[in-house]
Amino acid sequence: MFDKILIANRGEIALRIHRACKEMGIHTVAVHSEADASAMHVRLADESVCIGPAPAAKSYLNIPAIVSACEITGAQAIHPGYGFLSENARFAEILAAHGYTFIGPKPEHIRVMGDKIAAKRAVQAAGIPVVPGSEGALNSEEEAIAAADVIGYPVLIKAASGGGGRGMKVAQTRDDVAEAYATARGEAKAAFGDDAVYMERYLARPRHIELQIVADGFGAVCHLGERDCSLQRRHQKMMEEAPSPAIDADARARIGKIVVDAVKAIGYLGVGTIEFLYENGEFFFIEMNTRLQVEHPITEAITGIDLVREQIRIAAGLPLSFTQEEIRFEGHAIECRINAENPRTFMPSPGLVTDFHAPGGLGVRLDSALYAGYSIPPYYDSLAGKLIVHGRDRTEAIARMRRSLAEMVVGGIETTIPLFQDLLQDPDIIEGRYDIHWLERWIKAQG
Ligand code: ADP
Repeated sequence: MFDKILIANRGEIALRIHRACKEMGIHTVAVHSEADASAMHVRLADESVCIGPAPAAKSYLNIPAIVSACEITGAQAIHPGYGFLSENARFAEILAAHGYTFIGPKPEHIRVMGDKIAAKRAVQAAGIPVVPGSEGALNSEEEAIAAADVIGYPVLIKAASGGGGRGMKVAQTRDDVAEAYATARGEAKAAFGDDAVYMERYLARPRHIELQIVADGFGAVCHLGERDCSLQRRHQKMMEEAPSPAIDADARARIGKIVVDAVKAIGYLGVGTIEFLYENGEFFFIEMNTRLQVEHPITEAITGIDLVREQIRIAAGLPLSFTQEEIRFEGHAIECRINAENPRTFMPSPGLVTDFHAPGGLGVRLDSALYAGYSIPPYYDSLAGKLIVHGRDRTEAIARMRRSLAEMVVGGIETTIPLFQDLLQDPDIIEGRYDIHWLERWIKAQG
C-alpha cells in the first residue's frame, strides 16, 4: 500500500479523497493555486504545495508543476478526483513515465471513452445497447441532413469530445439541421479544441440512469447498482437518487449483467460509470465516465462501500474487497448539489461565507469544503457542497432531505438550497415522476 498520496484537485472532492486516505493510514499532499492558499483541503492535508496562480490552466491543469510536487514530497500515487486532469490520458502516461501511480483506469481506456464516437463503437461491440445515431463523425452539412433523415426527427448533434453538456444542439426538423450542425461544431471547437460532431436520435422523455462499476486487476468486475440523475438543468445534474424510482430489481439485474460482461470484455480497470438514457423500458448508452463521479456518495450510502478506498486499493494492486453476491442495496439515498448560485437566475455567487452550519443526524452526510470565514474564489465551478441523505425508503429519504436543508446555514452568499426546498414539495418529485426535461420545465413554470 502507498505511504503518501498527492491529491490533484480542490474543494469537496479533495477533502473526500483525503478522508479515505487518512482512514487507510496514508499521508496526504494537497496541491493548490495561489487563490486557494486558505482552502480547507490545504488545511486538512498533511503537506501542501502551491502549484501556480489562480487560473486552473496555470495550476490544477499544470502537469509539470504537479509532477514536481510529487518529486518534492515523495508522493507515490496521485488521485485526480473528477474534472481537471481526471480524464486526461496523457497525464496518466506522464505520471507512469515518472514512476508514479495514477489512481484511475488505464490510459487507453481513458482515451477511447473520452472520444464519444469511439466509445459508442467500443461498448456496442461489447454488447451494450446505444442510442440510434450516425455511424461516426459527420463531415459536412449534407452528411448531417442525410443522417438525420435516416435517424428520424428530432435529432441531437453532439461533440465527440463533449463534456458538461456543452456542444449539444437539437434539430427539430430538416430545416434546423444545417444551423444546429454549424453551431455544435463551433461550440465544440471553442470548448474542446475538437470540432468533430456526431448525431443521435433525440429522446423525448427519457430518464438518465447510470451504472456504477468497479473492476480490479484480477478480472473481477462488480456493478453497484444505478443512480437516477434525470434532474438536470442545461444537461447538468442537480439532484440524484439511488435506487431509481423507475428501475425494478429485474431491470437492474438485466442491465447490470450486460454492463459487467462488457466491462470484462474491454479489460477495464478501476471505477467507472456507464451512462444510459432509459425510455419505455429500454436502455440506450450515451457515454462512459472513466473516473469517480460527483454523485458517487449516493451509491456509497446504499451499498456501504467506500469507492475511493476501492480505487486506492485497486491502484495498489489489491483485489476488490467484496464480490457481486456480497453487495446489498439498503434503503434509499438522495443528493442535492448545493451550488454557490442565485437559486432563480443561477448566477454564480462567490465571496465571503459569513456563517456556516452543517446539518447532521442519522443518515446525513455533507461533503463540503466550506467554513465560516472562507471566501469562495470566483475562478472555479460553483459547487459549494453536496448534501446526501440516506433513509430506509424513499419517503424517509425525502423527509430527511427536507429537514437537513432546513437546518443548513450558509451565510453571506446565495445558494441553491431554496430551490431544493421548493422542488421537494412538488408532487412529481414526491411521486418520482420526472424525466431529463422535467426540471427545465419546472424552472420555467416558477417564472
Ligand atoms: P456530457 O458528456 O456533455 O455530459 P452526455 O452524452 O453525458 O454529455 O449527455 C448529457 C445529457 O444530455 C444527458 O444526461 C441527457 O440529459 C442529454 N442527452 C444526451 N444525449 C441525448 C439524446 N440522444 N436524447 C436526449 N437527451 C440527450
